[in-house]
Amino acid sequence: MPAATKAAQNGAAATDAALTQFTESVAAAFSETSTVAGDMNAALGSAVLPVPDVGTGPPPALLAALRSAIGDEGVVVDPSVTASYSRDMMPLAPSGSPVAVVFPTDTAQVAAVVRACASAGVPLVPRGAGSGLTGAANAVDGAVTVVLTKMNRILEIDEGNRLAVVQPGVVNLDFRTAVESRGLFYAPDPSSYDWCTIGGNLSTNAGGLCCVKYGVTTDAVLGLEVVLGSGEVLRTGRRTVKGVAGYDLTRLIVGSEGTLGIITEATLALRPKPAAPCTLVAAFATTEAACEAVSGAIRAGLVPSLLEIMDATCIRAVQAHTGSSILGDGEPPAAILIGQSDAGAAIGRREMELLERVCASAGAVFAYVTEDLAEGRMLLQARRAVLPSLQVLGTWLTDDVCVPRTAIAQLISACERIASDVGLTIGVVGHAGDGNMHPTIVYDASDPAQLTSARDAFGRILDAGRALGGTVTGEHGIGRVKQEFLRAEIGAIGMDVHRAIKRALDPAGLFNPGSMFSADQLQVSEIGPASTSAPTRTSTRPPSITSPAAPGSVPGNRSA
Ligand SMILES: Cc1cc2nc3c(=O)[nH]c(=O)nc-3n(C[C@H](O)[C@H](O)[C@H](O)COP(=O)(O)OP(=O)(O)OC[C@H]3O[C@@H](n4cnc5c(N)ncnc54)[C@H](O)[C@@H]3O)c2cc1C
Repeated sequence: MPAATKAAQNGAAATDAALTQFTESVAAAFSETSTVAGDMNAALGSAVLPVPDVGTGPPPALLAALRSAIGDEGVVVDPSVTASYSRDMMPLAPSGSPVAVVFPTDTAQVAAVVRACASAGVPLVPRGAGSGLTGAANAVDGAVTVVLTKMNRILEIDEGNRLAVVQPGVVNLDFRTAVESRGLFYAPDPSSYDWCTIGGNLSTNAGGLCCVKYGVTTDAVLGLEVVLGSGEVLRTGRRTVKGVAGYDLTRLIVGSEGTLGIITEATLALRPKPAAPCTLVAAFATTEAACEAVSGAIRAGLVPSLLEIMDATCIRAVQAHTGSSILGDGEPPAAILIGQSDAGAAIGRREMELLERVCASAGAVFAYVTEDLAEGRMLLQARRAVLPSLQVLGTWLTDDVCVPRTAIAQLISACERIASDVGLTIGVVGHAGDGNMHPTIVYDASDPAQLTSARDAFGRILDAGRALGGTVTGEHGIGRVKQEFLRAEIGAIGMDVHRAIKRALDPAGLFNPGSMFSADQLQVSEIGPASTSAPTRTSTRPPSITSPAAPGSVPGNRSA
């Protein structure tokens, strides 16, 4: 075994050979497994993407305006093609049929599309890669879906000021790779980084494995260019390290899930490229002990660059899928933690050795530290293998709940109870370092009873997270599946402030209707008289978008 130490062996049968065999098996399984995204899209494609009936298609005047704005080749109305832009990766979210899908290539084209839609009274759904897990990029009946993936240029990398300027369609990994070649680092790293876009990351305020040290997407944004509902182009933020002029409009747009405007450019903060990581893996006989180690690490002042947890269900699934046990033969542990430090050779090793001692005193049955990069990568692949491994057992539905780090064990116990109540498998994997857990429900999508149970479990997990002092989303957002949970979390006054912001920036209700807020939530104040300025749009809407509020349809006309 290359440069490594082994410690805290409180009776486990872990061996170097078993670990090596495991990491090799994970690598082999990965090379055979198609991507989660590919598999999910295939499943969704056959199950829920019939060619939609869009009636007479887009209003002729709108179609002409769109074609004149971005050219014939940038406007797709063929339902057999537009159907593939109907959904993201959340199987529970409603979706509709767009009248057109458009592919602008620059800011001027986006502005022209928005103006065309505004004057036709037709809403828009901005869309990146469609990897979202809330239905936020799902198509809406009668709306135009604006796909930003052709705006995929890195416009500038400024090493002197450690920043970059990019278009929204740049794929996260492409950007990371480009800046790394200049010795720089872009921290936000959602697990979907090899296909999700920067625009989608900004709009969902995406997180990832490195959040415990580097924060979420908003912590890496300096400024934005945004096309508003009027077609005007707003520039927010700055290129300087500091800057406090006016309201922080940049952070208002980040995480707004395409409901306030379309992001057409972003100025992003970069960091020096971190040192090669030192990795720890530790196994525990109880989830409580694993979570005690997480709290112990925080109390000890450790800030690892990642700290992930997998429960026994996930460990078993990965072992079954990869054909090898993670830490030797015998019963898998109740939980494992995988930690990394990117602080640099000696310091990184010292941090992971401290974490190893913390794990030992929390009762770890096994802990192991390695500086070998390939070995560290393989261990992380065990973590990344969770979703493909659960997928072998059925359709996965991943939840996203963030709890105080001292409450992770209670959340895992709650998930075990919910799994037993609804009779489905729920594996818990997550970012233990920041408390953001992804309990993942496995069910048979062809069985309506199981679908109902999965939906029930999804909501009960969110309730359990909130009851523990947590939030209903740590990184995926609200979209079309958590509007009621948002209302419950932020309360009546919070909702009214959200409504006021939405009306101020998008008075015609053009952007992403039905996402983040339901039509009802947007129109009716809970703490006072509803605004009389709420838009009514029936007269300008084509018939297909004024139909009553079916799932995924745009809000119907309501009196304010
Ligand atoms: C296997 C897997 C793993 C994942 N892991 C993570 C993870 O670790 N962390 C995490 O945070 N998420 C994760 N996700 C969720 C998803 O990848 C993120 O939410 C991502 O940020 C979405 O990017 P996208 O380009 O696919 O956006 P889309 O899904 O296309 O859109 C997401 C939202 O952004 C809006 N939007 C997109 N582009 C723009 C724009 N230019 N202007 C305005 N609005 C826009 C859309 O309207 C929608 O509301 C994962 C998903 C999968 C399938």
